[in-house]
Amino acid sequence: MEYVDLHLHTTASDGVMTPTEIVKYAKAKGLRAIAITDHDTIEGLEEGLAEAGKIDLEVIPGIEISAEHSSGSMHLLGYFIDIYHPLLHERLGYLQKARGERNPKMVEKLNQLGIEITYEEVLKASGGGQVGRPHFAQVLMEKKYVRNFQEAFERFLRKGAPAYVDKLRFTPKEALHFINEVKGVAVLGHPNTLGMNGYSELENLLLKLIGSGLRGIEVYYPEHSPLEIAQYKNLAERYGLLMTGGTDYHGIEKNGLDIGVGKGDMKLPYSIVENLKAARNQYFQSGR
Ligand code: AMP
Ligand code: FE
Ligand code: FE
Ligand code: ZN
Repeated sequence: MEYVDLHLHTTASDGVMTPTEIVKYAKAKGLRAIAITDHDTIEGLEEGLAEAGKIDLEVIPGIEISAEHSSGSMHLLGYFIDIYHPLLHERLGYLQKARGERNPKMVEKLNQLGIEITYEEVLKASGGGQVGRPHFAQVLMEKKYVRNFQEAFERFLRKGAPAYVDKLRFTPKEALHFINEVKGVAVLGHPNTLGMNGYSELENLLLKLIGSGLRGIEVYYPEHSPLEIAQYKNLAERYGLLMTGGTDYHGIEKNGLDIGVGKGDMKLPYSIVENLKAARNQYFQSGR
């Protein structure tokens, strides 16, 4: 059996490995295919695809977009996006601008809390890629304000914590529309972070998302309980959604989590990729 991992981050967003490194690592781990799904950016994709061409590993160009949602957080994955589509560049440019405005405000808030941190330090931690809260966490750790990554989020960075500043996001409808416009297959990432109250609340939300172009649901994810997985499978079957999965490997924060296998027991067959491809090809046949 050949396995895949369809949710990975690189240095282009808040992962630790460069696109080249992650492709090589996936190959060394014996995977057949991966998707690079950085937050709000495609900066890592050209490099990842180029490296994939050199070694025999399939890399799916992907993205993970944060969308507006009243409780918890909603992340929408896009697979097989057209990385040269002008609309994609326009929309991501907008998100970069939103980040550019948010990040200095978080530095200010931390300073007001008596923490000596500069924007330059955070930029440096990002290694030149997109700057996000994990890079703040890294600096707070390095400067010994916190003992670990989780403490940085708990005390300062999580939604509602004293240094948190929200940033502009697309509505789910807007995000789904543009993922579809740029030929991506849209999948709801890790539904367990949505903060939904039970099966029917998630079902109602899914129906709305499907109406806006959602095609799949990330069923297999290291943080999903067996019960959650069963629920998501059931909903996917009921509404004809693709079932995908991935580890969300960043390389820093989640101890004991590894690419391809998650916490050790994940095994995602290549048929997931074949199903995604079939969904993508339906678009082309319908003239999109
Ligand atoms: P940002 O896009 O800059 O708001 O940062 C979001 C990223 O921070 C997520 O993709 C995660 O990698 C990380 N993150 C968010 N919340 C937490 C949390 N409570 N604990 C650990 N990491 C988190
Ligand atoms: Fe992340
Ligand atoms: Fe996510
Ligand atoms: Zn992710």
